Amino acid sequence: MNAFDPALLRPRLPSPLQPVEDERFTRHGLTLLLKRDDLIHPDLPGNKWRKLALNLRAAAGRPVLTFGGAYSNHLRATAAAGRLLGFATIGVVRGEELAGRPPNPSLARCAADGMRLVFVDRGTYRRKHEPDTLARILERAEAPGDVYVVPEGGSNALAVQGCVELGRELVGEADVAAVAVGTGGTLAGLAAGLGPGQRALGVPVLKGGFLGAEVVALQEAAFGGPRGDWWLDERFHGGGYARTTPELDAFAQDFEARHGSWHALAIERLYVAKMLHGLLTLAEEGAFASGTRIAAIVTGAPEPREGARDAAGEGAREGAQPASSR
Ligand SMILES: *Cc1c(COP(=O)(O)O)cnc(C)c1O
Repeated sequence: MNAFDPALLRPRLPSPLQPVEDERFTRHGLTLLLKRDDLIHPDLPGNKWRKLALNLRAAAGRPVLTFGGAYSNHLRATAAAGRLLGFATIGVVRGEELAGRPPNPSLARCAADGMRLVFVDRGTYRRKHEPDTLARILERAEAPGDVYVVPEGGSNALAVQGCVELGRELVGEADVAAVAVGTGGTLAGLAAGLGPGQRALGVPVLKGGFLGAEVVALQEAAFGGPRGDWWLDERFHGGGYARTTPELDAFAQDFEARHGSWHALAIERLYVAKMLHGLLTLAEEGAFASGTRIAAIVTGAPEPREGARDAAGEGAREGAQPASSR
């Protein structure tokens, strides 16, 4: 551990595992458990803490540069870690047009936490992992020479390794662990940490069917080969990244009405709602044998609302545009 290790932030680990009484599952003989990663840390919730931990230890106080869309949970978590642990952060944001606009609450939060924001056009953003493009981005960002670069969504080998512990925490507790998939880093680590006989279900929140290959590649980078027993169900992206449907929103509201106050639970809409909706559909289709214990991983909390806690008061701005992100 060094002075920049997020373990110093006293994360709540292992995260709580809470059984929920939901007749839509119990009538099929299924037990539903919520793995509350959203409670790990108020400013670095969910899988973002797990994915950043080893990276920040490796960065050891160097400035951290990373990438995200205008509503990126990963950017917010990185900015918060920089403020709390005292290292510089640079956020490369997709969408040059955002530069001239008032920041949305998520980016305002990043800026209030001291993150320097650099806006790049979508073409550049797409090619950001090509060495030439990355070099130009670093130049534009006036990044110092010793900058530590974390890829989009925080997913690299260290992030995947950091998520292994999530699987280990579930050994003996569940038969199936379900998680929403954005870049695949969390699923790659989770599956590796589970024990024999346990399976991980990934619910992609993007369409396109490319995430299975990403998970394979991330496991290769992190462990040198495939690990664990996992599968994807690609049906529940709800139209694609950062999109939602009225049905999905109604589903999430209903889930909160059933379980929210009892468990102090708010359903994050872009990932967690899609995963829970997928699980319920699979349960109703009879995909799980009676007696199966299912752990649904609550990977995050809803983004800060307009005017939510914000020392600089910048989050209170009205009229911010919900834009697609990533
Ligand atoms: C980032 C995020 C994910 C996706 O994690 P990946 O490792 O990128 O697949 C899932 N849920 C929430 C709430 C997130 O913020």
